[in-house]
Amino acid sequence: LVFTLLTIFPLLLIRVLSRQYEQQLTQTRQQSAEVTEQQLHRSENALSKISRIGTFGYWYIDDNDQTFHWLGDLPLLLGLADEELKSLSQVLEKVPVSDRERLNKAIHEACETGQELDIELPIEHNNATLIWVRAIGNCAFIHSKPTWCEALLQDISDTYSSNHELQLRDFALNQSPDSIFTLDSQGYILSVNDTASRVFGYSRDEMVGATIDLLNPTLDLNDWPRWWKMVKNQHHLTSFANNQSKSGRLFPVEIAASYFAHSQRELCILSVKDITERKKHEDEIRHLAYHDTLTNLPNRRLLLDRLQMALVSANRHQHIGALLFIDLDNFKKINDSQGHAIGDLVLKTLAERITSHLRAEDTVARIGGDEFVVLLPFLSSSMEEAKQRAEDLANKLLSLVIRPISTNNENIQVTASIGVVNFPSSDESNADKLISFADTAMYQAKEKGRNGVVYFKMSMADDINRQINLESRLKSALDNEEFFLHFQPQYQDQQTLIGAEVLLRWHAPTYGLISPAEFIPILESSGMILTVGEWVLRKACHQLKEWTDQGLWHDQLTLGINISPVQFEQPDFVRLIEQVLTETGIPAHTVDIEITEGTVINNIEQIIQTLNALRKLGVKVSIDDFGTGYSSLTYLKRLPVDMVKIDQSFVKDVPGDDSSSAIINTIISMADHLELDIIAEGIESIEQVHYLQSHGCQKFQGFFFHQPMTQSHFSSLLKEHVTS
Ligand code: C2E
Ligand code: MG
Ligand code: MG
Repeated sequence: LVFTLLTIFPLLLIRVLSRQYEQQLTQTRQQSAEVTEQQLHRSENALSKISRIGTFGYWYIDDNDQTFHWLGDLPLLLGLADEELKSLSQVLEKVPVSDRERLNKAIHEACETGQELDIELPIEHNNATLIWVRAIGNCAFIHSKPTWCEALLQDISDTYSSNHELQLRDFALNQSPDSIFTLDSQGYILSVNDTASRVFGYSRDEMVGATIDLLNPTLDLNDWPRWWKMVKNQHHLTSFANNQSKSGRLFPVEIAASYFAHSQRELCILSVKDITERKKHEDEIRHLAYHDTLTNLPNRRLLLDRLQMALVSANRHQHIGALLFIDLDNFKKINDSQGHAIGDLVLKTLAERITSHLRAEDTVARIGGDEFVVLLPFLSSSMEEAKQRAEDLANKLLSLVIRPISTNNENIQVTASIGVVNFPSSDESNADKLISFADTAMYQAKEKGRNGVVYFKMSMADDINRQINLESRLKSALDNEEFFLHFQPQYQDQQTLIGAEVLLRWHAPTYGLISPAEFIPILESSGMILTVGEWVLRKACHQLKEWTDQGLWHDQLTLGINISPVQFEQPDFVRLIEQVLTETGIPAHTVDIEITEGTVINNIEQIIQTLNALRKLGVKVSIDDFGTGYSSLTYLKRLPVDMVKIDQSFVKDVPGDDSSSAIINTIISMADHLELDIIAEGIESIEQVHYLQSHGCQKFQGFFFHQPMTQSHFSSLLKEHVTS
């Protein structure tokens, strides 16, 4: 206001004075002699004083002779020396070309309407700078041409630039993506930007003058003084809240409040950012961090959190919960044979089935490819009852899992193995350990033939610890020469030696002799079987070469070498055999590759190819532990093998056990039919020999004949045999 008054007042004054001056001039001309030198001097004097308040200049065209006259600071405004300024064209030339059209239009309008010309114009003050002037004047048609005939000019550069700056600031404020409010110390809204109207849905008028609780209905204005004090003390404060728009939409905001004191007034500027999208992203990221993307179930991290809480709560309130570890059986096979899309469908379907069967307070987590964990935080206060309920639920889940899952082409059936553990118990200390206990029990369920439930026992954990220790020792067993070979002779018709089976032995420091039944699975699961298996193969064939050179081994004998499925599935397996045969020079047909039924279950076409390649090399192939796997007769007949070995589990119960006898009879007649050789292993008595002989099996291996023996013992046996 002060600024405006300062601008307007001199303008008015100068107008009055200049009019007076003009009238005086006219009068002077009209009355010539009446005008005194003194009056003129006074007017000029007044104008020069006004010019000291601001920069003003005045010009006019004499009505009578059309001459140009000026007063005040006009040359200064135009950047000319006093004596230089002689014509109106000099004034007009100072207006930049880009603004001349605007000026001409204004002159024309003023002429047409008879109104005053009032215009803001830039002036090329000198070559380097532009100044802004406000020009107020009159126009008239002179010789039918719109002509500007009088004007008062004021330098408004300062006002102009501060106005301009204010406009810019206003523009920037309205462009801001945040809602900006100015508040007074009572919480009344003094001003808002355009964004605030857009975001909150209120007009500017509805907001200005209202208190700030208009935007936040939960805000208690009684708390305002306390809040105000905080902002005042800290000058800047950031907080989060939920705001409400006029339509009732609640949305989260981040508020930056700044204290501002101006002209003895205290103000607060609130910058309010709508963080709905940010919150949504944050929630999504948090969800992703704690959930499995495929099934949307909690992941291991969230499970651990919840289990930790369940453990604390169970301890505090003395109630019993349970953890169920569910692992699908043969899921890899579904993925491999049906593709990953079907695998995903299976996982999603099962996740839904399991979840729908549980209470809201229970958690179903997916912690690995085909591994789910169910957390039941509270089952009972009695351990017996809790155990029973957990096992019942686990059995129920098994029945849910096994229900067919329909895909585009067919119905898929899946089974699962479940390990169960209750908590809290004195043995477990933390959530991780509890999960590993349930996992251990689940493995036992797998061992027991899958599709079953096993309740955790502490002794299982001991087994796992032993396995872990053995695995770490196995890593250095080959380098430390802890492996050696035993040989178990094989006979035909009780006396004729027809060969032997090589059996791997491991003497582990501090543990002693460990059974291959225990360490071979560890070698297989860790992949170490590849190097160890190759060592067995080489060692056995070199031994064969030595015996051949010593004249102890002849063409009619065969040496059975056990090959793990992991080895057999290697793409360069046949090449390895070929290489070892070449290396040792032993005849191929004295080597008998023993593969288990498990090897031939998967990927049958590939297996047949490998078997054909082996046959081409000339080596023999036997199917070991026959009858214990799942191989069906239909594809057995497609396999190019030479012999089947009847598993000792059937042999041990004959004669006497009907079902074992029936199986043995079936195997023998099938082998006959397929023209396969047949040998029975695990023979411990003469009765077994007689029984098998009477049913058509003439080849034997077992303790009845010999225990597996060291290489030197078997050398002696070979010698005896040669000399006899
Ligand atoms: P397998 O190939 O079926 O070997 C026969 C197993 O039966 C041997 O156990 C042998 O000692 C045992 N046995 C032989 N006669 C009798 C008997 O009259 N009564 C009883 N109760 N048992 C008898 P071992 O040496 O403990 O080997 C167990 C399994 O370990 C083998 O079963 C074989 O599957 C695996 N294995 C052994 N050596 C190797 C190897 O070098 N490589 C691979 N991949 N597996 C091997
Ligand atoms: Mg064997
Ligand atoms: Mg066997």
